[in-house]
Amino acid sequence: MSLFETSLSYARAADQQDPLRPYREQFLFPERPSGEPYLYLCGNSLGLQPRQTRQYVLDELDDWAALGVEGHTQARHPWLSYHEFLTKPMARMVGGQPDETIVMNGLTVNLHLLMATFYRPSPTRYKILIEADAFPSDIYAVSSQLAWHGYDPTEGLLKLTPRPGAHCLETEDIATVLAQHGSDIALVLMGGVNYYTGQLFDIAEITRLAQAQGCVVGWDLAHAVGNVPLHLHDWNVDFAAWCTYKYLNSGPGGVAGAFIHARHATNTDLPRLAGWWGHDKATRFEMGPDFRAIPTVEGWQLSNAPVLLMAALRASLAMFDEVGMPALRAKSEKLTGYLRHLLQERAAHLNLSVITPESPAERGCQLSLLTGPDGKRLFDYLSRHGVICDWREPNVIRVAPTPFYNSFEDVWRLVDLLVQADPT
Ligand SMILES: *Cc1c(COP(=O)(O)O)cnc(C)c1O
Repeated sequence: MSLFETSLSYARAADQQDPLRPYREQFLFPERPSGEPYLYLCGNSLGLQPRQTRQYVLDELDDWAALGVEGHTQARHPWLSYHEFLTKPMARMVGGQPDETIVMNGLTVNLHLLMATFYRPSPTRYKILIEADAFPSDIYAVSSQLAWHGYDPTEGLLKLTPRPGAHCLETEDIATVLAQHGSDIALVLMGGVNYYTGQLFDIAEITRLAQAQGCVVGWDLAHAVGNVPLHLHDWNVDFAAWCTYKYLNSGPGGVAGAFIHARHATNTDLPRLAGWWGHDKATRFEMGPDFRAIPTVEGWQLSNAPVLLMAALRASLAMFDEVGMPALRAKSEKLTGYLRHLLQERAAHLNLSVITPESPAERGCQLSLLTGPDGKRLFDYLSRHGVICDWREPNVIRVAPTPFYNSFEDVWRLVDLLVQADPT
């Protein structure tokens, strides 16, 4: 007997029993010209706007209008220390301590800043290890770091490739690469959840294996944060960075996050690219010429807080705090499991194969569907019928039912459209 049935009434009953069901109403769904909402399955790319975000941003605009520069100290949420309102909620999202977790800049900017400290190549150990199908910005970032330090990226960048015919990586194969090449590798930088395949890596184990070889280990958590539970401190990760506009629903170009393990973050002697916002708070406004780093991850800040972006993130993190990752993850495992099951039961004829690992321990909410030769036409058909998901060249459709705002009925409707597909 199977866990799920294929009827619409089953999907509706599952929604009735879903304790997170009321949260769907707290998000704004884009609407089709007919006034019907789109079937939105693209939270892996840009999360939907929470209803309360507008008011959080308006409050800051109003305080700016009323107070001008005095808002730095007199605003309801003073701008001078605005990032501090985000520190604890964000630390809870990633399993970091407050002195390890910071909200600042954009994701790729943070990767470079963190590499300025943690990629310290020497002539005998300078290589960087990354997944072959990592997000392009990450490949550009590590390649340019190699070149910046005078190394040839084509030689210095080691890429992890799946076994022939496979799409995902095996931890044991990563272990083999580390055992063979670890002493040449200065830095391992991987995506916690790969953006293309949706594979969730064993972050704790890979970190342990790489550190045993003397490598520094950083993680790009763009597709992991707000999607899967994270315990960066306990996993002893050296550093991490992530954006917040995907599963964290902070809005386009939202301010990013960074983590530096306490054993590094408290070390003010570590080399870094410094700015005034990383300077000791007590003496920052004496405007002296000598940089004195804050002895936490705050010591890596460059600029004063982008308050309007941070207001939007505050609105969203308040919701994550209210619900908590355990409840979101519990629903997510069911919702994505249901999608997988329906595809198997109802859409087997479509020549789609799911390249995301089957085990919930190895995936978040996204499934990546490898299509046949008419994949792009299938994707266009879905678009014409009100589905927002995404197409990744050469042949993958990514769909991400997010537990915060997607329903079992959404998943049922997607598969029902696929079943009726006539992409010609
Ligand atoms: C989304 C994403 C990015 C985007 O980088 P930005 O600096 O936020 O534009 C980078 N890397 C990964 C792995 C991503 O998923």
